[in-house]
Amino acid sequence: MLVAILKEARQDETRVALTPDAVKALTSKGVSVGVENNAGLHSGATDADYTAAGASIAARSELLTTADVLPVVNLLPEAEQRRMKRGSVMIGFLRPLDDPAALEAAVEAGVTLFSMELVPRITRAQSMDALSSMATVAGYKAVIVAADRLPKLFPLLMTAAGTIPPAKVLVLGAGVAGLQAIATARRLGAVVEAYDVRAAAGEQVKSLGAKFIEVDLGGLQTEDKGGYAKELSPEALELGRQAIAKAAKQADVVITTAQVPGRRAPLMISARTVEEMKPGAIIFDLAAPAGGNCEVTRAGETSVYHGVTIFGPINIVSEMPVHASMLYSRNVSNFLQLIVNKGELVIDHKDEIIAGSCVAHGGQIVNERVSAALKVRA
Ligand code: NAD
Repeated sequence: MLVAILKEARQDETRVALTPDAVKALTSKGVSVGVENNAGLHSGATDADYTAAGASIAARSELLTTADVLPVVNLLPEAEQRRMKRGSVMIGFLRPLDDPAALEAAVEAGVTLFSMELVPRITRAQSMDALSSMATVAGYKAVIVAADRLPKLFPLLMTAAGTIPPAKVLVLGAGVAGLQAIATARRLGAVVEAYDVRAAAGEQVKSLGAKFIEVDLGGLQTEDKGGYAKELSPEALELGRQAIAKAAKQADVVITTAQVPGRRAPLMISARTVEEMKPGAIIFDLAAPAGGNCEVTRAGETSVYHGVTIFGPINIVSEMPVHASMLYSRNVSNFLQLIVNKGELVIDHKDEIIAGSCVAHGGQIVNERVSAALKVRA
């Protein structure tokens, strides 16, 4: 069985799907691993590191057509999907709910597709939770960039020349990225407030030393059984926006992370609210790839609106490729352990994790949500 690691095709991608540590674990079990020249360079993994781990360096076109398993960060371009072997496996961030049509070539080619986004959030799958890994990196990096660009200090400082008050940071969405942002901002000495629709997030926010903004949504059910936020009614969203507008006016930095899987990110900061923020303030919109939480965010750009700098990165984790790749590679390796047995590919489609994350098999889409998303876009 051959596992192949390719250089990511996406221009702004610096991560690699499997690091040399993961390769070593595979080759020690008798699995062959082929790596494209310089695949791990940005992540600090050289070709020599891969060969020392037991892999061989091979040409991309050869790996594409011979691989049994292709772990990727991002989906392969369409033309390359068509070249994959029937019955081979691709695993990665395949964005099956956001852009299901982009998978069609691989489905037609008979490639079995596993989406890291769809790995169920059950205890047994925690070590495969790549969304949480990336959210952790993103939440940290957002605060570091904001602290660097803010024309102010973060901590309270008492100096002979006078006292400098701490920066005020507002975090919207207190899931994995939001909680990491809170923890990082607190470590740098900022005063932090946070808001989330899930009541459970309140305790976690407070345990990190931040204030939780309470909004009375009249007992509305805001969480699905998977622990994710539900899409809110326009009225409930508006109640949140009003509370946020008040806090945003006082904030030096706003980090926004709110998302609802498979939907456009909720709009939480109106243009009007930005107009009322302090000049020099920063909004860091981590939901930019899903449409953004702020009305004036421009995805993929850093812009200035009424003196407020708004960051809308679409691949922030690529700015921390070493640890982003390390965590992702571990998540993927743990997933591979489910489908590789004694050096052979063995897929148990009844396994809850396999069933939940499998998007396509045998030339068919096998996930209902993905089929529905395809129909909506057709
Ligand atoms: P996410 O990236 O989908 O969303 C980020 C946050 O935005 C969430 O906390 C969500 O509640 C919030 N949000 C969505 N709409 C909002 C709105 N209109 N207003 C305010 N906030 C809004 O979520 P995530 O960070 O991936 O995690 C979501 C939940 O899943 C959390 O409870 C997390 O602890 C839990 N989780 C569980 C596991 C597990 O293995 N059991 C693993 C990771 C995360």
